[in-house]
Amino acid sequence: MIPLILVAILLSALAAFTKMVGALISGSIALLADGADSIINIGSIALATYMFTRSRKPPDAEHPYGHYGFEVLSATLTSIVMAIVMSFIISTTISRLEHHEVSYLSIYFSAISTAILISSVYLFHRISGKYSSLALRAETRHLAADILESVIVLTGVILAVSLSYLYDLITALIVAAFMVYGIALNLKEISESITYKLPSRTLQNTIESIVRSTPGIIECHAIRVRRLGDALFVDMHILVDPKLSIEDAHKLAHRVEDFIKSSIKNIKDIVIHIEPAK
Ligand SMILES: [Zn+2]
Ligand SMILES: [Zn+2]
Repeated sequence: MIPLILVAILLSALAAFTKMVGALISGSIALLADGADSIINIGSIALATYMFTRSRKPPDAEHPYGHYGFEVLSATLTSIVMAIVMSFIISTTISRLEHHEVSYLSIYFSAISTAILISSVYLFHRISGKYSSLALRAETRHLAADILESVIVLTGVILAVSLSYLYDLITALIVAAFMVYGIALNLKEISESITYKLPSRTLQNTIESIVRSTPGIIECHAIRVRRLGDALFVDMHILVDPKLSIEDAHKLAHRVEDFIKSSIKNIKDIVIHIEPAK
């Protein structure tokens, strides 16, 4: 996993470097915006990888619920950086409305960086297919959008060189719009995690039917599921025979836990409250 990610990061860095140099030489704001976005990509791939590793660490004294929230933190930090860079792009674009020049060299730099990016996205897609992770998924999505973005920028600089500099500014704003979309997607994932949104009704129903089909369970209620990053947490009340010993009731609760964990992956913790059935 590590070497592939390194190659993806290096390719992304090369694409970003090409765009930034191209922007400085040709004066294209669209290329500058695209380059800045690529730099964010590199930073967020590195951050996502680091946070993914941290999120998989077992619970400790400081974090008794585990470290899964670090994945959400990674998406949050990326969104903040994207918002700052996006504001910079928009203000730069506005400042160039009156006068702006774009050299034909922007076309070459844009074309080369697009080719590099396509190979990097292909690699990253292979990595994230193997590892299910909120942070890695966010990255793949961002990188896929990046290819489209690069192609749009290439078209934009061609139009800017051949027709009017305004096309360069319009393209820069399109890149900013891509960032807004990226931020919105991240915020959706983040808000679903921190508001404990039910991941899916089907999942809840599946858990309930597993509990009900466990021999010894008379009734169950208050089945709650929440998601943090890609980790699922479950708690519930089970009703058992009032004459059951504490020892047997405890064993039964563990059986329920094992059944659920063996049929649904990504469930990291289950807390079961035992009640006597009436
Ligand atoms: Zn209850
Ligand atoms: Zn126990």
